[in-house]
Amino acid sequence: GVATKEHDIVVIGGGPGGYVAAIKAAQEGYNVACIEKRGALGGTCLNVGCIPSKSLLNNTHLYHTIKHDTVKRGIEVGEVNINIAKLQTAKDTVVKQLTSGIESLFKKNGVTYYKGTASFVDANNVSFAPTDGSEETILKAKDIIIATGSEPTPFPGIQIDEERIVSSTGALALKEIPKKMAIIGGGIIGLEMASVWSRIGTEVTIIEFQNAIGAGMDGEVAKTTQKLLTKQGLKFMLGTKVTKGVREGETVKIEVESVKDGKKSELDADVLLVAIGRRPYTEGLGAEKVGLDIDNRGRLVIDSEFRTKVPHIRVIGDVTFGAMLAHKAEEEGIAAVEYIKNGHGHINYANIPSVMYSHPEVAWVGQTEEQLKEAGIKYKTGKFPFIANSRAKANQDTDGFVKFIAEAETNRVLGVHIIGPNAGEMIAEAGLALEYGASTEDVARTCHAHPTLAEAFKEAALMTHGKAINF
Ligand code: FAD
Repeated sequence: GVATKEHDIVVIGGGPGGYVAAIKAAQEGYNVACIEKRGALGGTCLNVGCIPSKSLLNNTHLYHTIKHDTVKRGIEVGEVNINIAKLQTAKDTVVKQLTSGIESLFKKNGVTYYKGTASFVDANNVSFAPTDGSEETILKAKDIIIATGSEPTPFPGIQIDEERIVSSTGALALKEIPKKMAIIGGGIIGLEMASVWSRIGTEVTIIEFQNAIGAGMDGEVAKTTQKLLTKQGLKFMLGTKVTKGVREGETVKIEVESVKDGKKSELDADVLLVAIGRRPYTEGLGAEKVGLDIDNRGRLVIDSEFRTKVPHIRVIGDVTFGAMLAHKAEEEGIAAVEYIKNGHGHINYANIPSVMYSHPEVAWVGQTEEQLKEAGIKYKTGKFPFIANSRAKANQDTDGFVKFIAEAETNRVLGVHIIGPNAGEMIAEAGLALEYGASTEDVARTCHAHPTLAEAFKEAALMTHGKAINF
């Protein structure tokens, strides 16, 4: 018969949710195994998501700055060129370093790493089919954590070939700079890819069904973002529906129509990126064999302790409810293990930051003005522009603002929305304020170093209830 190995906990999927859960479980003294089929740990995030996109974003930003933004800084450079092969190698190198880094962490913490595909046999047994084709094993476990993640949502009728018609995975790996790129979807992934390629010469058009970009951003921030990205050369077609996208040789023909009046038009591109969102991934998992519930959006259904209806099978990350973000998956990985060990764990879903790594960056946490209006909650805002911040001025990088939203009566921080240089780092301070239940007075009375961008954060907090000093 098939060989059986026993573990206390088996984790299915080695992405940010799964690998963090596995390490945490090992640290808590469990005999834990993690099964991952892609051949590398780190999941979507490290292999084809967060990390490769940030490598390309950072390096194309540097290129763009050196090429277009040095003269007024008193720096004279010669000819500046992009070497796309090396740009991609730099990206691949960091991905390799980080994914193999997790393998070392597994060794250090004593997590058993199984390279292959997991599939349920029954509620306590998972079959493991090794990637190298060697014999199948049954892994028996007391507790099982599913962290199988997500995949790009396909666009009905549009065939992805990852060459001319690409998902984010193909868009991260292009070997040539396209002359023209069209992107379906003005969400974070679409806009980050738009930034990468447009900075190195691609003419990018973003086609978005909604009348605003940046799904979920505060309305005022989304408008400012669109304005700044337009200034950088991105073209937006909002309120526009794609009806067709087909490859014809080396070009892609796209047909669109206006959502409002049905007016049709056509465009073509060298590359069409489909970036309309991601959907939970459970293919081949055999969830049905143990009777796990899957909702109409493909998500594995769980209770507040991450339990499926088979209580010792828990689910975390993109494959279940909530924001599809790496840090959300990681928090859930920790909390799920805490539930197994102690019967309680903690995540504050009202305090999960979002960041778009364009330039300037956009970052937010807590509630938007739109959400508060809808909930009928009275609030005040304080908004400080980076143009009035000394560090931003010195850096010649002054686009954007910090906006605080505070409860009208108490000044309690309800949300912070930033568009500006380093917004993604600065939002951590907002998260701390929210977590500690701070008021904007608490933030405004905290000494911030001068000259830093974070002073804009402090002054925006002050402006919800007092007057800014520098604006
Ligand atoms: P995943 O990372 O998807 O990992 C699941 C893993 O499970 C996969 O490696 C898969 O191979 C494996 N698996 C699935 N089924 C099986 C099976 N049956 N057997 C064995 N293994 C299996 N998030 C951020 O927070 N910040 C960002 O900047 C950011 N940028 C992104 C950019 C892009 C282009 C994309 C696509 C995503 C980005 N994300 C970002 C989202 C982030 O990648 C995900 O939220 C995160 O990876 C989810 O983690 P996870 O562990 O739930 O799933």
